[in-house]
Amino acid sequence: MGDALNAALSRLDDAAELLKLDPAIHQRLRRPRRVLEVSVPVRMDDGSIEVFTGWRVHHNTASGPGKGGIRFHQDVDADEVTALAVGMTFKNAVLGLPFGGAKGGVRCDPTTMSNAELERLTRRYTWEILPLLGPDRDIPAPDVNTDAQVMSWIMDTVSMSTDQATPAVVTGKPLLLGGSKGHVGATSSGVVICIRALFQELGLPVAGSRVVIQGFGKVGGPLAFLLHSAGMRVVAVSDVLGATVNPGGLDPIALANHVKETGTVAGFGGGDAIGRDKIWDIETEVVVPAALEGAIDVDVARRLRTRAIVEAANGPTLPEADPILHDRGIVTVPDILANAGGVTASYFEWVQNRAGYAWEEPLVAERLRTRMEESFHAVWARAVELDVSLRRAAFVVGVERVAETMAARGMYP
Ligand code: GLU
Repeated sequence: MGDALNAALSRLDDAAELLKLDPAIHQRLRRPRRVLEVSVPVRMDDGSIEVFTGWRVHHNTASGPGKGGIRFHQDVDADEVTALAVGMTFKNAVLGLPFGGAKGGVRCDPTTMSNAELERLTRRYTWEILPLLGPDRDIPAPDVNTDAQVMSWIMDTVSMSTDQATPAVVTGKPLLLGGSKGHVGATSSGVVICIRALFQELGLPVAGSRVVIQGFGKVGGPLAFLLHSAGMRVVAVSDVLGATVNPGGLDPIALANHVKETGTVAGFGGGDAIGRDKIWDIETEVVVPAALEGAIDVDVARRLRTRAIVEAANGPTLPEADPILHDRGIVTVPDILANAGGVTASYFEWVQNRAGYAWEEPLVAERLRTRMEESFHAVWARAVELDVSLRRAAFVVGVERVAETMAARGMYP
């Protein structure tokens, strides 16, 4: 079993034990409801045909249609997609969203593919998973290496194949196609809301505090800007090619311009170059992993010099690292809470599509803040009550809600 799936299930098992969960419900939650593996043949620009593999997984749909992103990455496999779908089930539950947990992925390296190839890949993959999709069945969204353009192709493929305009089948669309104001950057905004709430609990000021960010993509990029605007010092940022550090604080706009020109944070003139693994040794108030799974292992957990971790990525901390962080007093806001701003904005988008009525940006921002704050405080209160970490408490809250829903629905047939 893959590391990510192992991690997700071990956290479920832990919550089941804390809750003294009905063993039948526990066993059902340990398995995905359905895993669809599809082959995705794509005509490449040179005329040759390449066959990719894709998956769409529904982990649990007790609370509503499946919801979760689609990622394009060369390392994607069935276990990883399943692990991410498990995460979505409990993330949606922690936020109280009327969705089950789903996830999709295609094993490919989009950085080596043309736009036309990506379009053909997306359309064929969508066609292959079509039986699972629908506004009341399963609603994909962006994830690693997918964006509003990919969502547009998905929306168009579904709409054309059914001959029905179906914007509510996918979220994270451009505004023109029924996207929501405030969806872009919503994951980053949610992380900021969590950092503010956490700092208040810890008695730390936001202004002047330091943050280290791993990853400068869709989440890390806007996050650096938002935290800088909130008065924090972004002291280091890394990406796959390198890292840059400036104890006085990096200028996120200049950094974003540098990345636009060169494709990496490495070599940024407004900071000093360091090895990408060295960011974990920097003294800071908060570390935000905003890249892929497994970044914080036992070694990194021992080295970190931070008060807190706020997980913008999905699954960035290995389960073996959890007790080390806890013993060292490093408070961790887990992914299923910290990065839930994205799926919460997706929920708002889906609601707007179904109502056929678009909300103004301040309404989206206000509702996002309220929901994230309420969820943060519910998890915090549970952690205090049970005297456990925020991660264990978040899983307790999520698993409990899903289990109650499953019990209320009973078993079919
Ligand atoms: N991919 C994001 C996540 O992991 C968003 C999912 C969604 O909006 O459905 O939470």
